Amino acid sequence: MFDHPSYDAHEGVHMFHDAPSGLRAIIAVHSTALGPAAGGCRMMKYATGEAMLKDALRLSQGMSYKNAMADLPLGGGKAVIWGDSKADKSPDLFRAFGRAVASLNGTYYTAEDVGIDVADMEIVRQETEFVAGLDHGAAASGDPSPITATGVFRGILETARRAFGTDDLTTRTIAVQGVGSVGAHTCDFLAKAGATLVITDIDQAALKAVAARTGARIVAPDDIYDVEADIFSPNALGAVVNEQTLERLKVKAIAGAANNQLVMPEMGELLRRKGILYAPDYVINGGGIINVAAEISGNYSRDWVDSKLDRLMETLGAVLDEALAQDKPTNEVADRIARQRIADAR
Ligand code: NAD
Repeated sequence: MFDHPSYDAHEGVHMFHDAPSGLRAIIAVHSTALGPAAGGCRMMKYATGEAMLKDALRLSQGMSYKNAMADLPLGGGKAVIWGDSKADKSPDLFRAFGRAVASLNGTYYTAEDVGIDVADMEIVRQETEFVAGLDHGAAASGDPSPITATGVFRGILETARRAFGTDDLTTRTIAVQGVGSVGAHTCDFLAKAGATLVITDIDQAALKAVAARTGARIVAPDDIYDVEADIFSPNALGAVVNEQTLERLKVKAIAGAANNQLVMPEMGELLRRKGILYAPDYVINGGGIINVAAEISGNYSRDWVDSKLDRLMETLGAVLDEALAQDKPTNEVADRIARQRIADAR
């Protein structure tokens, strides 16, 4: 473990196996310097245990950075369950996972991530209180997507202000990849602000609904990178900023909710050289975790969420300003600030 390329001084990497339910899970606790580790649980049919471990190590580190940048009293952790989320779920499996979370005594809080929904978390809740993202209960925060989208929209304004000298979107074209929970809400905000939208998705019904509301032009999924636009907003998949797409993108800024947009950190420098201002994903998409943090606090307050979102936008602005002033990649500046905040808390 200590030699693993993705091991970053994680405080704890816990493996769980429950033979009766078939649970195989890893909970990685990257850091609790700022508070209990928090991060979603992902269920995926990994090719190997090694791939699963790598995901847990990288995602938990990412959560430490995301929570630090959102100025939350939370550290970073992540859980991964090995299995097909369409075929391998059972109540026993999630109860066993709940006992695994409970055994960490509050060092780690779980919630939904890829492959996991609210119903699964309700079962986990039967075994442990260290769970968020619920629909019921005193502090339940529900679907975080509208808050995430609010942050993404405001983050697009921050980015536009620096890339174009104005956040007036009435003369801007924005290419939006993915009109799911976050993307659709973001499109609504952008249309209201007067932006011209070009959208894509693999879900035709979602596309039609958003186009009807916003007047957006629809393009095929692979054509989104070639659109003559000012801003590219990825709200679907990771790794969409890579050497191939970079050659095609004609935009001056990238700002969207998708996690892990850069195929590798070095893409940040290539974006800088090409004059594309990149809003680091884990900063601009922090609205969702702020909402979850409000639930973990046990006393959900929309005012608290809004004030944290204000701070997050200031932080995003500071990251972009520092990167521009020092000719540095924005992702490097964000990583440095996140690491500093964690080190200061230690
Ligand atoms: P979602 O599943 O509701 O939406 C994703 C959309 O992308 C879907 O409509 C899907 O059809 C579409 N899509 C899938 N493959 C595509 C492709 N090849 N080309 C174009 N579209 C494609 O997910 P979401 O909750 O809206 O999240 C979107 C992204 O934002 C994800 O990367 C997620 O990890 C990230 N994120 C979400 C939140 C949140 O609060 N939901 C918070 C932080 C980050």
